[in-house]
Amino acid sequence: MTAGALRKILAGTRVVLFDFDGPICSVFAGLPAPQVARDLQRVVASLTGQRTVETDTTEDPLEVLRQSARYGPSVVAKVDEALTAAETDAAQVAEPTPSGARCLRAVRRSGHRAAVVTNNSERAARAYLDEHGLTELVDTVIGRHPGRPDLMKPNGWPLLQALAAFPVGAHDAVLVGDTEADIQAARAVGTCAIGYANKPGKRERLAAADVVIEDMAELAEVLEDPGEPA
Ligand SMILES: [Mg+2]
Repeated sequence: MTAGALRKILAGTRVVLFDFDGPICSVFAGLPAPQVARDLQRVVASLTGQRTVETDTTEDPLEVLRQSARYGPSVVAKVDEALTAAETDAAQVAEPTPSGARCLRAVRRSGHRAAVVTNNSERAARAYLDEHGLTELVDTVIGRHPGRPDLMKPNGWPLLQALAAFPVGAHDAVLVGDTEADIQAARAVGTCAIGYANKPGKRERLAAADVVIEDMAELAEVLEDPGEPA
């Protein structure tokens, strides 16, 4: 059933937009996210002169960035810079997602185009793609808008930026993502959505996607052998 749904989506689309952290790699596998979050909290504290900051409650670096916006544009810009540096270091030791690179190769061979659309920084995503010899497989990489965490997914902004690189409409594209924010962003701009449920319990959270897979190999197999749409 999943393969049939994937075939139908891929037959009707020309561009596959990949979220980065999840479908392509586990960004913080080698440099753990809670450690990066703590480092960013120290940056926020030093910039604001406060010993305890609102961001202390989270272990998600992107959430620290999002919350740091309350301290104003100069703080959020500096936190974004610090996070970009940490993510780029993390990308050097990120763990590849099984069949993630295989999907990028299969997209190219199937005649589709590929983009990476991520809430991480473009620099980190490009560093990973370079490190793993995947750069030529991807037509464009859209990271978060520096200093504007409000434009991260679930906002549709990054998807619209990616789509602008192709002569297609939103309905000719599909996003592969592992969070509710990905699916919401896809819905916001009108692309199809493939949920990648890479952890227990995620299938339910991604239920708004057109189809949910638990292994990127499911997508790779259909791209490699598209057959007839169901
Ligand atoms: Mg993700």
